[in-house]
This record gives sequence, structure tokens and C-alpha cells, in this order.
Amino acid sequence: MIGVSFDAKSSFLNGPAKGPSAIREVLFSGASNLFSETGVDLDSVNGFKKVIDLKIENSDAGYLQIEGEAEKQLSDGAIPIFLGGDHSITYPLVKAVAKSMKPTTIVHFDAHPDLYYEFEDDRFSHACPFARIMEDSLTDRLIQIGIRTTNDHQRQQAKKFGIELYELPEMPTDLDLGNNDKVYISLDLDVFDPAFVPGISHHEPGGLSVRDVIGIIHSINAPIVGADVVELNPQRDLNGMTAAVAAKMVKEIAGKMMIA
Ligand code: MN
Ligand code: MN
Repeated sequence: MIGVSFDAKSSFLNGPAKGPSAIREVLFSGASNLFSETGVDLDSVNGFKKVIDLKIENSDAGYLQIEGEAEKQLSDGAIPIFLGGDHSITYPLVKAVAKSMKPTTIVHFDAHPDLYYEFEDDRFSHACPFARIMEDSLTDRLIQIGIRTTNDHQRQQAKKFGIELYELPEMPTDLDLGNNDKVYISLDLDVFDPAFVPGISHHEPGGLSVRDVIGIIHSINAPIVGADVVELNPQRDLNGMTAAVAAKMVKEIAGKMMIA
């Protein structure tokens, strides 16, 4: 697990920079054990409990440090779960991962497609990372799940890049992955209905349940080469509910990494 305390590319509210410590606090609080539902004891997984944070500044200049600092942490071949941070971090993180292990498929959970060519004069806003990823051909397939805020511009972007954009209520029935695939999971917590996740910056009603997302994660039957869990905003959280959902997702993703 690698913390990325960064929210300088958030368009609406700050707060996600405090996400990594909030997720770790829940994971290691003793409120729950470290078993995934799939039966993996993460307590015994080498390195799982090591606290690593990228040494970056939380500023526009700091954004440019993310890729290189992430690469340093990946040099021993570890499979990373990045704890965000706002969603802008996914572009430099996928770039870093792709240098050693290019994902063939990115499974992206989000209320928003994050496909803007530019947002508020910034091409690296948290509203843009998947446009940059597709322009750079950092993956062969992008599957977007839980989307419920798109517009004509972003639909055009999805078409241009051949993205598998599932707008709710449409959901994939089968991700159609093979053993030769390498999957990167990017989980924006606003994919969930705000009833489950009050501690996010963009409340978008009508979202997925925790069980919906766990079901899709468990259905991934190909090796996972990296993941991120982003957009936790502890300043808006209630009783740590959202941090608990984020921690649960980390456990289920890590559990799949160990057995897929
Ligand atoms: Mn997002
Ligand atoms: Mn979002």
C-alpha cells in the first residue's frame, strides 16, 4: 500500500490528501480482521502493513513528482495499491506501473468518466486522467462502471478512444478477461451511492452499493498489476463510514491480487 497524499488537482473541495492516513487508521484499528472475503489473510502478506508514502509536495509542482516517486517504490516488483488522493494521481501512477507491467485492461469505477480534454484550464485535473491515459495508449481496454454524470463531450471522447462506457443503469455482465490480461483497478469512491460514502467531495445520488462493487472485483479472473482507491475526503466523513468502505475495498482488491 502506497499513500499518495495529494489533492491539488481537485476541482471542488480539498480533503483527499488526508485519505491515506484515514484508510490505514481503519484497516489497522482492530475493528475488523485483515481477512478478505475470499479467504486471504493479509496480515500474513509480506509488506502489506508497511507504511509507505510518496515523497511529494501537495501542489501543482508536486503533481510532476508523482510518476518518478511511484516508480522508485515499484522497483522491487511489488504489486501496488495506491491510496489517494484525488483522481488526478491515476494518470502518473498508471504511467509508472506501465513501465514495468503495462495493464491490458483498466477497470474504472466512478460516477464520472473523467474524460475531459481539459477542465478549468487544466489538462491534469481530476476530471481528466482517463483522457490522458488513452491518449498515451497506456492500456488496450478501458471499462468504466457506475457512470451517471456524463455529457456530450465525454461521450465523444469515449467513442474516440473505444472506451467501454457503462452508464447506469447499464452494467457489464461479464468483464470478458483472459489469463493473459493484466488488470489495473481504479476505484473512485464516488461510484457508490452517497448513502454508503458521505466522505467524498462529489455526492452523486443513484450509485452502486458496496456489494455491487465487491461482486465485480471478485469476478476479475486475471492477474492484477496495480490498483488505486481514490477521492476519500475525511473532512466530510461521518463516523469514519467512508474510510471503512475504502478499507474494505483495499482488502478485497488485495485479496484478489493474491489469488487471481
Ligand atoms: Mn474520478
Ligand atoms: Mn468521481
